[in-house]
Amino acid sequence: MSEARVIDGKEIAAKVRADVAAEVKSLKASHGLTPGLAVVLVGEDPASKVYVRNKAAQTVECGMNSWEHKLPEDTSEADVLAMVDKLNKDKAVNGILVQLPLPKHIDSTKVLNSIDPDKDVDGFHPVNVGRLGIGERSLVPCTPRGSVILAKSVIPDLSGLNAVVVGRSNIVGKPMLQLLLQENCTVTVAHSRTKDLPAVVRQADLVIAAVGRPEMVKGDWIKPGAVVIDVGINRITKPDGKGKLVGDVDYADCAKVAGAITPVPGGVGPMTIACLLQNTVDATKMQHGIK
Ligand code: NDP
Repeated sequence: MSEARVIDGKEIAAKVRADVAAEVKSLKASHGLTPGLAVVLVGEDPASKVYVRNKAAQTVECGMNSWEHKLPEDTSEADVLAMVDKLNKDKAVNGILVQLPLPKHIDSTKVLNSIDPDKDVDGFHPVNVGRLGIGERSLVPCTPRGSVILAKSVIPDLSGLNAVVVGRSNIVGKPMLQLLLQENCTVTVAHSRTKDLPAVVRQADLVIAAVGRPEMVKGDWIKPGAVVIDVGINRITKPDGKGKLVGDVDYADCAKVAGAITPVPGGVGPMTIACLLQNTVDATKMQHGIK
């Protein structure tokens, strides 16, 4: 059997960023608007610092304004809420992102829910969750949005496909369900209580794995020719003691059966920031009543 086509997330993310940059240019020319993204980082988490640096660099590369607000680890919840309130009121700021995880003494839900839903470029606010559920124009969580773009790069019309999403988190699995319903897929959402998961996944023309368990999805779970999108990012230690990033899908095993598959790294990962930039442009347009 031939190997699956590899879906190149880096290349597709670069295209999304180029489209964003073109839209930013045209918004400047037509409306005198420069979209702006403010990122709030509390504390010293090394991975968060890298994410925030990458987000800021790519925001600027696309021609947008970028602000980084770095607050010390011991900042009070009240001070973080005050910072969000200030950004909510700042007309130059179109998108607000509070980098997670927040230090333990801060209630993340309270902080995320204090972001103006129209500036909530992560799409986590209950108002945006509701808007997505009823099919209204909304800001959509970045990782599911990017996953759909990757699936459509192989099958432009997903209509009528059987899609199985493994995982039901608020940030990936549940918004994924809504987006795939909008694409007219027949969607099954599986989770830790699902009976005979391999048999459920075997029904899928499109598999989205967002489980957080290294290489859990095996080749004999995959219907021949199915499209496999691996959202998982897991750091494992190889027998030689070296670290390695792997997805929730056993890539080598599934690539023998699937029609197309995303690698880890280089699949869904790069799409997340690209979609954050797209969300910032979308937020700007929504705030100014631009279609
Ligand atoms: P969560 O831990 O919030 O959710 C995991 C989901 O998987 C839960 O719904 C859980 O079920 C389900 N699950 C766990 N074990 C099993 C099992 N054995 N069989 C079936 N279902 C199971 O994870 P996230 O959604 O936040 O993240 C999922 C993965 O995606 C992680 O690897 C994460 O690192 C990655 N990720 C990648 C991003 C990117 O940018 N590429 C962004 C966000 C996440 P139950 O609800 O029943 O407990």
